[in-house]
Amino acid sequence: MSSGTATHCPYCALQCAMTLSPAAKPGAGFPAADVPTPGLPTPGGPAASAAPLLEVAGREFPTNRGGLCRKGWTSAALLGHAGRVTEPLLKGSDGVHQPISWEQALMLVAAAVKDSWARHGHDSVGVFGSGGLTNEKAYQLGKFARLALRTSRIDYNGRFCMSSAAAAGNRAFGVDRGLPFPVEDLDSASVILLLGSNVAETMPPFVQHLQGARDAGGLIVVDPRRSATAAFTGNGGGIHLQPLPGTDLALILGISHVVVHEGLADTAFLEGRTNGHKAVLRSLNAFWPERVQSITGVPATLIRETARRLARSARLAKDEGRGGCYILSGRGVEQHVDGTDTATAAINLSLLLGLPGSARSGYGTLTGQGNGQGGREHGQKADQLPGYRKITDPAARTHMAKVWGVDESLIPGAGLPAVEFLKSLGQPDGVRCLFVHGANVAVSAPDAGAVIAGLRSLDFLVVCDFFMSETAAEADLVLPVAQWAEEEGTMTNLEGRVIRRRRALTPPPGVRTELWLMTRLAELLEAPSTFSDDPRTVFEELRLASAGGLADYSGIDYDMLDAGEAAYWPYPAGGKGTPRLFAEGFAHADGRAAMVAVTPSKRAQRSFASASEPESLALATGRLLEHYQSGAQTRRVAELSASQPEARLQLHPETAARRGIADGGLVTVSNERGEVQVRAEVSTAIRPDTVFLPFHFPGAGSANRLTEAATDPISGMPEFKTSRVWVRSAAAV
Ligand code: SF4
Repeated sequence: MSSGTATHCPYCALQCAMTLSPAAKPGAGFPAADVPTPGLPTPGGPAASAAPLLEVAGREFPTNRGGLCRKGWTSAALLGHAGRVTEPLLKGSDGVHQPISWEQALMLVAAAVKDSWARHGHDSVGVFGSGGLTNEKAYQLGKFARLALRTSRIDYNGRFCMSSAAAAGNRAFGVDRGLPFPVEDLDSASVILLLGSNVAETMPPFVQHLQGARDAGGLIVVDPRRSATAAFTGNGGGIHLQPLPGTDLALILGISHVVVHEGLADTAFLEGRTNGHKAVLRSLNAFWPERVQSITGVPATLIRETARRLARSARLAKDEGRGGCYILSGRGVEQHVDGTDTATAAINLSLLLGLPGSARSGYGTLTGQGNGQGGREHGQKADQLPGYRKITDPAARTHMAKVWGVDESLIPGAGLPAVEFLKSLGQPDGVRCLFVHGANVAVSAPDAGAVIAGLRSLDFLVVCDFFMSETAAEADLVLPVAQWAEEEGTMTNLEGRVIRRRRALTPPPGVRTELWLMTRLAELLEAPSTFSDDPRTVFEELRLASAGGLADYSGIDYDMLDAGEAAYWPYPAGGKGTPRLFAEGFAHADGRAAMVAVTPSKRAQRSFASASEPESLALATGRLLEHYQSGAQTRRVAELSASQPEARLQLHPETAARRGIADGGLVTVSNERGEVQVRAEVSTAIRPDTVFLPFHFPGAGSANRLTEAATDPISGMPEFKTSRVWVRSAAAV
């Protein structure tokens, strides 16, 4: 092990830079005592008898400037963790997992795949990937599914995260890069409209990039809750707009209406750089502020004020080169059945103001998962081939067949998006043999109870993980794989900047990398193309695969990344990277942005209409500072688990009083899909018609047992923010 390995945090898309060094005294600084974590089916102990082998230090980098959040500071606790799975585990007829050799494990998997092919056809084998995988693993996983497993059935958990924003970005701009500008450009903004993102908890070092706008009184946060980020607007920092859940789209249309009807739109930009704006302008007539107030609960005065501030700052930036105006969206507005249209409305607003492609302003979406950006570019999506190419595009299929050295006919067509994929588990014509890589769908997927039933109905479930997650606990076979600091690779952060993940530690002897695993299985299954267990070799192939695609990495190599080059895609071979997109034109053939008129869907309208029913409440799910995604990793870190050991239902004092619920009291939250029991957190930070439950926890505290598997028809994004629930005091039952 070398000392001082420069790498990046294993968690979110900010990909904060850190240095890993040998721990002066392994275990120093970490409490020896285990901290119980409710509901964890963890062989090897509950949360965290962590004895970190490495120490973490923040490292200077534009996204984090040396800062880390609690998750990053404690990330080394996962390495050398006592609960680590370190050998293949096969579930016996008694339901208990027992160790077997890797040779036995590989033979079992190959036999299960062949058996499933023979009995149910190639599409009976499925692969569920993750936005946490490195670019190399995401790329090879797509190739592995299509050429080694010969299935179209591959999708990933990014469907629950970025799919609506990605669909909207592709529709409007012809390309989807989360932030089409470096994150540091936000520093000089005078106004930032932040739609549905609680960065103060999800990626705290990002908040420093909001400071300039906040100091100028121009931070505008849209969130039904007074979240930590919304609270940042206090004391003259800006405006907090608190709409009823599910009404974000109407609110954005209301702001857009004011921009248009007060003559604040950038008409020269609309005429010169967009298509479809006339239809959008017409569609906004129905969303005057007073009507939008009645839909959203946001005062018309604040809707007008928001529009005027945005327009003023956009004009100042353009005409006088001062300040800047940005619109950023997050999961709060995107995780809806009309998430794509809501993100489209945000993009339309930015285009009305002439922000995208201008020097000091822009629109972007904040990617969540660590490699949420790269994870959606290299082919692990159901409808996609590497280079962000459509799998249905004949030219894309020809290109990939050439790179892979196979006949085009061997590349399957489009598969099923994640929710449909998961609904098919165990069905006669569905997925019967499933590989899961780096995802914990038993906790993170909507309608988690139905997903767990689906997992249990499979003929064979293989889970590749480093902990016995709730999904791994359901597996026939658990394959132990390397962690973030035990392997080389690349990630692509929320700016579309490709960065290096470096190995600082040798994995435990029984652990293998996923690249190794795919390579060995591809050989056993006689795949018609070569696979590699060497990340650099895989990246070289990824470069070729991406060449000429939207996400073109062909000019990027490990050496330039190691030399510190800021490599933003598209980066064609022989060319240079692109920190700021759209300066010359958008990615559609005519170089113009496509504006599409959108209105709230009937489904969303039902959602806010029913909010007036006194008994039911709108459930919004979300994240806590201490935990990441399904919590499979962070619930095992002692300090994080001690700080947030369990899910708590946030509800307003009036809502609590009506139900006889006291702060800290046990409450039952239920609907037609399930029931959970958690403690109450009574707070004025939330609206009386809404409750909030974090989704990081399993079992009795699992928020996703209540969420709905209804999806956005364009992106396949599930509805995570407006499920209807009934809340009662558990003591009263
Ligand atoms: Fe890691 Fe994200 Fe926290 Fe940075 S903000 S330390 S990347 S979890």
